[in-house]
Amino acid sequence: MSIAQQLYQLQEIDLELAANQQHQARVSSQLGESQEVARVSAKLEAAQQRLEELERQQHDVEWEVEDLTVKLAAVEEKLFGGRIRNPKELTNLQHEADELKARRSQMEDRALEAMDQAEATTKNIADLTDERSRLEAEWNDYQEKLSAELAVLKAAHVKLSDERQRLAAGIVPETIEIYEQLRLRRGTAVARVEQGTCRGCQITLPTTELQQVRGGGLVRCGSCGRILFLA
Ligand SMILES: [Zn+2]
Repeated sequence: MSIAQQLYQLQEIDLELAANQQHQARVSSQLGESQEVARVSAKLEAAQQRLEELERQQHDVEWEVEDLTVKLAAVEEKLFGGRIRNPKELTNLQHEADELKARRSQMEDRALEAMDQAEATTKNIADLTDERSRLEAEWNDYQEKLSAELAVLKAAHVKLSDERQRLAAGIVPETIEIYEQLRLRRGTAVARVEQGTCRGCQITLPTTELQQVRGGGLVRCGSCGRILFLA
């Protein structure tokens, strides 16, 4: 194998390694927490807090209804007990009883309203819980697939790295150094020669250079400096 061919192969491996690493980075960036699951969890937490608040409200209102019922009973006891005969006092008591009834009725409406809202919120919590379970299951499947994909990529990376090491071991360090420098400066170090042209910079090569390339030695393009490789 000519040195140009060896370097070309090295470049092919390096390109594959770079693509593999990019692919790994893409896959890794998708591993982790699901934003969608987090969004539904936040909604769920808010709904649970809302339910607690509604239940507390309902309890408070029911307690107030009870309190008003006790007060009303006391007023009605005075009103209809027969001990109070003073018309003005009776009128006042009647007024008080009416107010208590109105207030109680208002509280009962509020209790019903809170109950309705609690019911709707409970339903909402059940729906959100289902949605979260579904999203979590989907996400876990997806994460498993990504993990498997990552494992395959890592194994391929190890294999390519071994191959590279083996190949590089057969090339003198000075040549590897030239190759690495070119990679840094030009992106690719080795350019194919096709129809007498350097594919790295598209310049037509002089006949002497072409002959040297055919000879199999390490020839660099006079224009872009890349190592020329004739397949
Ligand atoms: Zn060139």
